[in-house]
Amino acid sequence: MSHVSTSKQYDYIIVGAGIIGLALALKLTRRFSNPKILIIEKEPAVGLHASGRNSGVLHAGFYYSADSLKAQLCVKGNKELRAYCKEKSLPLNECGKLVVASYESELPALRELHRRGIVNGAQVELISEADARKLEPNVHTCGEALYSPHTATSDPARVAQTLKSDLEKVGVEILCDCRFLRHQDNVIFTSQGTFEAGKLINCAGLYADKIAQQFGFGMNYTIIPFKGLYLKYKKNKSDVRMNIYPVPNPKYPFLGVHFTKTVDGTIKIGPTAIPALWRENYAGLKGFDLGEFFDIGMWESRLFLSNAFNFRTLALTEVRKYWRSYLIRLSQLLIPNIDPHGFGDFAPPGIRSQLLNVKTKELVQDFIVEGDTKSVHVLNAVSPGWTCSLPFADYIIDTFLHA
Ligand SMILES: Cc1cc2nc3c(=O)[nH]c(=O)nc-3n(C[C@H](O)[C@H](O)[C@H](O)COP(=O)(O)OP(=O)(O)OC[C@H]3O[C@@H](n4cnc5c(N)ncnc54)[C@H](O)[C@@H]3O)c2cc1C
Repeated sequence: MSHVSTSKQYDYIIVGAGIIGLALALKLTRRFSNPKILIIEKEPAVGLHASGRNSGVLHAGFYYSADSLKAQLCVKGNKELRAYCKEKSLPLNECGKLVVASYESELPALRELHRRGIVNGAQVELISEADARKLEPNVHTCGEALYSPHTATSDPARVAQTLKSDLEKVGVEILCDCRFLRHQDNVIFTSQGTFEAGKLINCAGLYADKIAQQFGFGMNYTIIPFKGLYLKYKKNKSDVRMNIYPVPNPKYPFLGVHFTKTVDGTIKIGPTAIPALWRENYAGLKGFDLGEFFDIGMWESRLFLSNAFNFRTLALTEVRKYWRSYLIRLSQLLIPNIDPHGFGDFAPPGIRSQLLNVKTKELVQDFIVEGDTKSVHVLNAVSPGWTCSLPFADYIIDTFLHA
């Protein structure tokens, strides 16, 4: 096969120019001398999926149990990404965050978040209702709140663009409009020809499971996409000062509808976690794929009928959030006197690449990375994947790519 022998060769080929692929390339250039790296991205630009469509919150690291990779990476990730934003003069809103208990029954879970935060090395403080109101005058909480001073927000699309230009300056090739199709040993077939990879690293987000399975990895998993809608609050930027979150349901890997104070001070509520019907099911029929529709529909129907991990309740509750009045009512649990008429349009949604373990029929909570000496596959890079991206890249290098 003549095209195989004439393929351009790289030490590392990374599939996907989201934050994980970009951060990994950055760390490879910093840790090895002159690595030859190619990133292939099927879209015309970097960061067009989850990495450019998320809340932009640098999480502080108190949600995750200490034995998880999320716990190991989040505190460090927050620090490194904040430092990167500062070094690159990217906007950063270091306004902090309050987690509030809308009902007294949520107080034990709130205290558990505090305990986890301390164990994980995050800076967190349990404060009284009165102190919470000093920070956020309109907030409602039952007696106590959790204060996280290190939660911040930045602009995820600008972070991705800045990483891209940093990488190009040090010789990393980023090939957009180039889709990974298949592989044969170390030869990678793409929509723009073939390349040879010393190692392939799959950071393909919503398609990471499909690519991993071509290499014999990720066989216990499939991605169930969940859509995150946001609603903008237009009335008054000063009506909410910081990020305000409810106590999450520990059964689900989602944090619940919350107020995000974006980097320019804009307020938005969301994101939802509505089961999507195909992987890139952002709006209308865009990105529709019949095969995905049947496959995902089959899984969602099975989970709905068996009510595995309370999926039926989750799906029915989440679908109601398409109605802005319901979404607004949820936000009023956190800030009761927010003006319901002050909300504007929905902002562009993001879709979570949430992994389902097909054997146990459970949503996977932690990041998963599988691989061998030839290929590595990043699965379930869900929230707080954006925050964790830089130390996550170190973890991947240390575990799978070290000489
Ligand atoms: C609604 C929402 C809110 C979130 N909020 C936060 C938050 O506030 N803080 C936080 O830390 N995390 C947050 N996250 C999580 C965070 O966005 C993700 O963890 C992170 O973006 C994952 O990055 P990624 O590079 O793995 O995926 P992606 O950004 O999806 O990148 C994968 C890339 O692979 C490309 N690709 C796919 N298939 C192929 C192929 N065959 N060939 C070539 N390229 C391919 C895609 O086009 C895409 O660009 C949120 C996520 C969502 C959806």
